[in-house]
Amino acid sequence: MRRRLRSVIPEFVEYIPSDGKDLVPGVVYISMKHRTVVLRCPCGCGQLSEFVLDPIRFRMMYDGKSVTFDPSIGNSNLKCRSHFWIRNNQILWCSPMQRWATRQAQEREAAQALKERKATQTGARARFRGFLKGLTRRRNS
Ligand SMILES: [Zn+2]
Repeated sequence: MRRRLRSVIPEFVEYIPSDGKDLVPGVVYISMKHRTVVLRCPCGCGQLSEFVLDPIRFRMMYDGKSVTFDPSIGNSNLKCRSHFWIRNNQILWCSPMQRWATRQAQEREAAQALKERKATQTGARARFRGFLKGLTRRRNS
C-alpha cells in the first residue's frame, strides 16, 4: 500500500504549469488570479486534480499559514477514488468515494447553487419592485 500523506503545504502561485510536471505531491498550488487549485493526489498515486474556487461549490479559507477547503475533495473518476478533507493543512481521509456518492454530491451542489441563485434573483426582483412602487403611484386599481 502506498503511503498516504497526512498534511499539505499551500503555495500561492500566479500560474499553474499546465503540464503539471514540476508539481510536488503534498503541495497545494493555488492561483487566486485564475481561481484555480491544483494538487497531486496525496494517496501516493500522484494523479492531478484541479478545482475551480467558487463561493458556493468550492471554498477556501486561508489564515495566513494554513488552508482549509470546503467541501471535501473526492473524485470517483480517479482510479484511487481518494476522498479526503483538507482542514488547516491536515488531510483527513474518508472512505473511498463511490461513484454514486460523487454523483449525489454533484447533484446536491447543483441544486444548492440553483437555490441560492434563485434566492438572490427573487430578492433582487422584490427589491426592484419595492423600488418601483416607491417611484410610481399605482394607476389601475
Ligand atoms: Zn490517489
